[in-house]
Order: sequence, then C-alpha cells, then structure tokens
Amino acid sequence: MPPPHGVRWKWAPAARAESVGSTAEFDLIERIRRRAATRDDVVLGIGDDAAILQPPPGQQLVVAMDTLNTGVHFPEETAPADIGWKALAVNLSDLAAMGAMPAWCTLSLSLPHSDAAWVDAFLDGFLGLAQMHGVALVGGDTTRGPLSVSVTVHGFVAPGLALRRDAARVGDEVWVSGTVGDAAGALAQWTSGQPVASGLRDRLDRPTPRVALGRALVGLVHACIDISDGLAADLAHVAQASGVSIDVHAPALPASEALVKAFDVPRRMHLQATGGDDYELCFTAPGASRAALVRIASEMAIPLTSIGTVTAATAQLRLLDAAGRPWVPSRAGYEHFSG
Ligand code: ADP
Ligand code: MG
Repeated sequence: MPPPHGVRWKWAPAARAESVGSTAEFDLIERIRRRAATRDDVVLGIGDDAAILQPPPGQQLVVAMDTLNTGVHFPEETAPADIGWKALAVNLSDLAAMGAMPAWCTLSLSLPHSDAAWVDAFLDGFLGLAQMHGVALVGGDTTRGPLSVSVTVHGFVAPGLALRRDAARVGDEVWVSGTVGDAAGALAQWTSGQPVASGLRDRLDRPTPRVALGRALVGLVHACIDISDGLAADLAHVAQASGVSIDVHAPALPASEALVKAFDVPRRMHLQATGGDDYELCFTAPGASRAALVRIASEMAIPLTSIGTVTAATAQLRLLDAAGRPWVPSRAGYEHFSG
C-alpha cells in the first residue's frame, strides 16, 4: 500500500515474531477458540485473518491496551489463572475509568513453551473475568518468546460523555473508590519474603475493575482516572491534563482493615499515596453530585471517599498532612519496608 501523500514512510521487512510452531500454535489457538464466548455483535470471531465487529449505532468506540510482562508487572511465580485475570482486569479498569461499557477484547500471548496446561489455567482466569463482564474474546496472536500478555479491550460510550483526565474543574471535590495501598502492601510483603496477608494478596492478584461504577459516574463527575501507578502519580496526571491544582488530604485516604493491621501508620500512608496496582477509580465531581455519589456508594456497596479538592488553575498536586501542611511521602520509609 503506498503511503498517503506527504507522509514519510520507510519500508522495512516485518520483524515477524517466531511462531510457537505451526501445529502447537494451532492447537493452542483451537483451545482458546473452543472456550471463548461470543456475542450478537461479533459478526466473525476467532479463526479468520481478522474479526468483524458491529458497534452499536451512534456510540463512540473506546479502545485501550495494556501489556503484562513477567518479572516486571507480576512476579514470575504468579499462578497462570491470576495472570489471565489480571491481564484483562487492568484493561477493563481503563475502560471503567472512561465510563465505557466493555464489549470485546483481543489477546496477544507470548509464551516460552507451547504449554497447553498453562494456557488452560490462564484461560480460567481470563475468560472467567470476561464472562463476568459479558466481554467476547474475538482474536489475538500466539507467539514464542518470554512470557508476556497483551490485551486490547473495546467498549462503547455515548458521544461526548466519556470521563477524561482533562475535565477536572476548580471547586470540584476529589473522590476515590474502595481502599488504596492494598496491592502495594501485598507486593511489599512478598518482595521482602514475609507471608502475604490474604486480604492484600487478592488485591494484587485479582484486582476488581470498577466497570459498573465507571458507568454510573457518567454525567455526574468531571475527570476520572484509574489508579494503576499510584494515587499521587495518577492524580498528578489529572492535575496536569486539566491544568488545575489538586490538594489531597493524605489522612483521609481510605485503608482496608488488612492494610491497617499489616503496617504502621507512616508505612501505610506511603503505600496508600504512592502504591500502584489498586485499580480503584479516582475522580473529581462538583458539590452538586455529592448526594448522588453517596447513593451510588450505598447501592453498589462500594465505599466512595472524599479525599481532597481542586483548588486553583495551576497544574500541581499537593498531599497534605492532618494539620494541612504539605506532606511528601518519604522514600526512606519506603526502603525501610521493602528492603
Ligand atoms: P494470521 O496468521 O492470519 O494472523 P493466526 O494463526 O495468528 O492467523 O491466528 C488465527 C486466528 O486465531 C485469528 O483469528 C486470530 O485472531 C486468532 N488467535 C490467534 N491467537 C489468539 C489468541 N491468543 N487469542 C485469541 N485469538 C487468537
Ligand atoms: Mg496472527
């Protein structure tokens, strides 16, 4: 295909990933195809060169992709079913943060060996979560290489109603769902060789994407983001994208009982402010939405906690302590518990 006029284009032979081996690859794909559910809007799913999908008329298509690499995004000894669950969960969380309704996904698997038992266990987690959200696996790719899982998810939102990072406004209240710091707490215990508290372990291995909550927030809240890199880092993105100043009252950050039990206050606050992988939603909303948010929290049985305010039109994020003084999570505290 010639390049569009005026676009610089350099042809290079495709660096095609080595196949797992044709028979083995076919077997694995066939295992996946047999188990993948479908939906009415999948015109053609796994098996052809590409899938054919029918988006609902008048909706915007929302697309997200996330990759998990072994040893980077999950410890090497993670159970395959947990890897499968998490690979889809982190993607569904991105759609949740946009307020989108998930529909389809694709899966690129890089595997060191053609291991049918591993793929079956992986699918237990992956397809189990897909089924809970009515998401159809419509295609993908299977290659040999270091263990790595890439997933793309597709969802829908009414035109103009997606929850974006750049929509926070001065005067908004800042909210977070659930509790924060649990996944980082689990990881800290794991990497320091301690037994991992069960209440924390599940949050790391099997995060709950807040899909229904994200949908319910559409029209009520301004900016929204999911917490993958840590509350402070992710809210800083909102502050930057929206050009606003956000003050977070650090002592207000919601903590689970398990986290409170496992760590002293300084360590816990550090985990809550900076720990990633919680996949909670963090959003800013006008005061007029408060009553509706309280109702949603009770109806969905998901705690929603007000943790701060959007104060001014200058892009910055400040964490404040109990006395309202700027608080910087200490790196020393972090190293203390991770080492
Ligand atoms: P091609 O060489 O045309 O890309 P592949 O052999 O890679 O074909 O894939 C055959 C079919 O299987 C395609 O429909 C593809 O989307 C699907 N597929 C391959 N790997 C996966 C996977 N890991 N998960 C879901 N579908 C897959
Ligand atoms: Mg392919």
